[in-house]
Formats: sequence, C-alpha cells, structure tokens
Amino acid sequence: MTQDTTPELDHLIAGYRRFREQGWTPKLERWRELRDLQEPQVMIIACSDSRVDPAQIFDVAPGEIFVVRNVAAMVPPFETTPGRHGVSAALEFAVQVLKVKEIVVMGHGMCGGCKAALTQDLKGTEPGEGGFIADWIAMLDDVREEVVEKYGTVGRPAERAMEQAGVRASLTNLRTFPCIRRKEASGELRLRGAFFAISDGLLHVLDESSGAFSPVE
Ligand SMILES: [Zn+2]
Repeated sequence: MTQDTTPELDHLIAGYRRFREQGWTPKLERWRELRDLQEPQVMIIACSDSRVDPAQIFDVAPGEIFVVRNVAAMVPPFETTPGRHGVSAALEFAVQVLKVKEIVVMGHGMCGGCKAALTQDLKGTEPGEGGFIADWIAMLDDVREEVVEKYGTVGRPAERAMEQAGVRASLTNLRTFPCIRRKEASGELRLRGAFFAISDGLLHVLDESSGAFSPVE
C-alpha cells in the first residue's frame, strides 16, 4: 500500500493476508464456482452491531447467506413513497431474483438501536446528530407502548423485551410486502424470528404462535 496507513487499516490488511492464505487459496475451486453466480437459500436481516455477524454465528461460507444489516435489524413496511428504500431493494432481490427459501430476522442482546427506541433519547435531534436513527427506530414506536407498559423504559428486562418486540415488528412489516405474503402463503418462503444473546452466546428462535423465543438446544 502506498497511501498513508493507520493502525486500523493495518489491522484490516493483516486480516486480509490471513484470508488470502487460509481462506482464499485453499478454496479456489469454490471461489471459481461463485464467480458467476450466487445461490443463497437464506436471507438474514440483522443489526449492524459489530458483535453479531450472521456469517460467524451460523458458521457459513461465502455464497450461503444474503445479508442485510442495519440499525436494530429493522424491516420497514412496504412503502412506495419517494426515498431510497435500501432494505426493500435487498428484499426484492433476495425474494424475486435469488428466490431465497427463508428469511430470518435476527435481533440481539444489548442493541443500542432498540435501547434508543425504548428511551426515546434521540427524539427531536437533527439529521446527522441522531435524527436519522430517531426517524428509523420510530418504526418501533407502536410495539414500544406495550413494552413500556409492562417493563418501563430502563433495565435489561425492558431492553430485552424491546429487542424481541423489534423482531416481531420486522416480521409483521415483512408481511406487508405483497410478494412476500404471496410466497409465504404458497409455501415457497418461510419467515423466522431469531435472537442472539451476546451475554451467553445463545441463539433463540421465535415461536410465532406463542410469541416466545426459546434457546436452540
Ligand atoms: Zn443492534
């Protein structure tokens, strides 16, 4: 590299070199297969949080999962308003072009986005000063009411309830997309809620009939 390096870039480059040696070169054949097409069977919607990387948690190889990550693992409802609908574009591609068979919405413990939705600390801030986050997580306002009524706005039980309510809200919003509703009804597509608790490293899966998350054995 000729440009100015920084400890941060050096750290990334060192990792890249390990990847070239251990991940790329020994698996050249697999990389060649992936060169022209990807056929992931699963789409995962997760939080941008640095501690919850779906590829790491599910121990999958490149080409296996199609991932969207954003603040609080949110899916906005089907909207045709002007604006840049990044999540909707990714959903459209995954569902209509790649034809994934499952969409997993994965929330996580200690989610800052969900916490802000709960405390409303960023409400009223300017775009770039917290306003974009406030606006984004306002999607959780409806489900927040129920959480606050039961648990208040502070403490882990309230936060965890909010984190899990966020997964349910994203599943609800997923079903506002006509193509998703149609494919789910025909059995071509399964929707699932999951929750990864950083504190204990346990994955929980949502039972939508009871609304409860249970740890995977
Ligand atoms: Zn998060």
